[in-house]
Amino acid sequence: MGLPSKRRTKQQKRERASHFALAKVGLTTCSHCKKKIIPHRVCPFCGYYGGREVVKMDKYFKKRERQRKARGQAKPKEEKEEKKDKKDDEKKK
Ligand SMILES: [Zn+2]
Repeated sequence: MGLPSKRRTKQQKRERASHFALAKVGLTTCSHCKKKIIPHRVCPFCGYYGGREVVKMDKYFKKRERQRKARGQAKPKEEKEEKKDKKDDEKKK
């Protein structure tokens, strides 16, 4: 059976762990609603990409609502996320 032939010291363990930290996500601002979004993705708040509306968000949210009801879940996730964003915006100001 594969067993480690030598003990890993504290230092070896910590040196390896020095690379475990997650990189920060680089965010850009939406050209339409000016919210922070992931680059090269359709804006999850207004559905715009490249200066035009790609996803009709009214339809999208209605569809999500229907899917959630079908699954038996009734918690609106979008509202919580928007509240968080508002708090972040206030902190920056
Ligand atoms: Zn947007």
